[in-house]
Amino acid sequence: MSAGDARAIAAAVRSGARSARDVVEEHLARIAARDGELHAFTTVTGDRALAAADAVDRKVAEGIDPGPLAGVPVALKDNLCTRGVPTTCSSRILEGWVPPYDATVVTRLAAAGAIAVGKTNLDEFAMGSSTENSAFGPTRNPHDPSRVPGGSSGGSAAAVAAGFAPLALGSDTGGSIRQPAALCGVVGLKPTYGRVSRYGLVAFASSLDQVGPFGATVADTALAYDVIAGVDPLDATSIPDPVSATSAVLGEGVAGLRVGVIAELVGDRMGIAPDVLRATRRAADVLATAGATVEEVSVPSCVYGLSAYYVIAPAEASSNLARFDGVRFGMRVDAPTTLEMQRATRTAGFGPEVKRRIMLGTYALSAGYYDAYYGKALRVRTLLLREFAEAYERFDVLLSPTSPTTAFPFGAKTADPLTMYLNDVCTIPSNLTGHPALSVPFGVGDDGLPVGVQLLGPALAETTLFRAAAVLEAGR
Ligand code: GLN
Repeated sequence: MSAGDARAIAAAVRSGARSARDVVEEHLARIAARDGELHAFTTVTGDRALAAADAVDRKVAEGIDPGPLAGVPVALKDNLCTRGVPTTCSSRILEGWVPPYDATVVTRLAAAGAIAVGKTNLDEFAMGSSTENSAFGPTRNPHDPSRVPGGSSGGSAAAVAAGFAPLALGSDTGGSIRQPAALCGVVGLKPTYGRVSRYGLVAFASSLDQVGPFGATVADTALAYDVIAGVDPLDATSIPDPVSATSAVLGEGVAGLRVGVIAELVGDRMGIAPDVLRATRRAADVLATAGATVEEVSVPSCVYGLSAYYVIAPAEASSNLARFDGVRFGMRVDAPTTLEMQRATRTAGFGPEVKRRIMLGTYALSAGYYDAYYGKALRVRTLLLREFAEAYERFDVLLSPTSPTTAFPFGAKTADPLTMYLNDVCTIPSNLTGHPALSVPFGVGDDGLPVGVQLLGPALAETTLFRAAAVLEAGR
């Protein structure tokens, strides 16, 4: 389904064999033909994309190399600021807001020659696992439009799966890149906390948020990662260590690599579907056949990650979302006093899940409950960090399912918020630890829909994750 191959497009455009305008026109035509049905985009920036394509083509004509992503269409999650283009976070409260600046990742992609074709749909403020929490209506899964694409970066994953753009960016606070990547059959990486600049990413939970790439292939995703990774003086949390080109080591294989399969996430206690478990075990076999040593490893606190996350993330969100007050950004519902205006604006502007998180977070942080909830969640986080540190003394990479099931039907998990939260059981531990993790498609489930498996590593092990992912991609 997905046309993929950002690398082939960039090579063709750089050599002059194909114009960037031609590439962009082809992708805009695909979007026009099918996005009415899928709703991957909140905004399509066709005119801007064509103008940017012409600028790339002029460079080529003048003998200037436009960069490693020359002419490659990219789709941007709509919580990344784009100068002059609305950034909605799929929320009513940002109606009418147009950022005066670009996120650093947006600037870096453009500097590498990539062409932004639009902003993609998400669960409101990235809170959710299906895009059903978007104020503008859900995104449909390109593999089966009666099913969700996952979330919260569902629009970005669907855009890549549908061939609307070979690359996309998302954000991952609690699985929001990896889970939709798994459900849409594409590759998605959550980099190490601090590896990719978050300047211009609308904050959800600042100790967890990370920006990362989606691609149809491992090599494409690595290429996008290489372009966006690295220190940024505008993001105080960004890591100064130099980035070594990941793309260069993709073919190195996994001989001698020590792979640990996370016992808690492949057992029968966590509600992982049998077809997903089978795929994960098969992935372990493929790595072993390719020369890795594979063993099970126990990370006991993994099972508490979910509970800790759903205290910490709402706590941080309740603070971050205080800035949407009817004064500084977006919509305002007028009222006689400031307090009434703020109440009316926030009541009308936020959807039910966002309100639930603000209330949960405020409660968890309030005097008298702080130690019992927030304090305890932080202790779980420390425990998880210790257990993972121990595991990484014995293993280079860990393996688990990405999502407990393949893509589920619309409405299947909306009745009870906890059912939706359970989707994140495998993905959340790496957000709490800040470690990198990647989802790579690996076969299909009993329903014929894509299954993703997750590779996890210690801080700054992205290169190793990509290497192992390349082996799984070849062996699926
Ligand atoms: N499902 C997670 C949540 O609802 C996803 C968050 C994210 O990664 N943006 O909080």
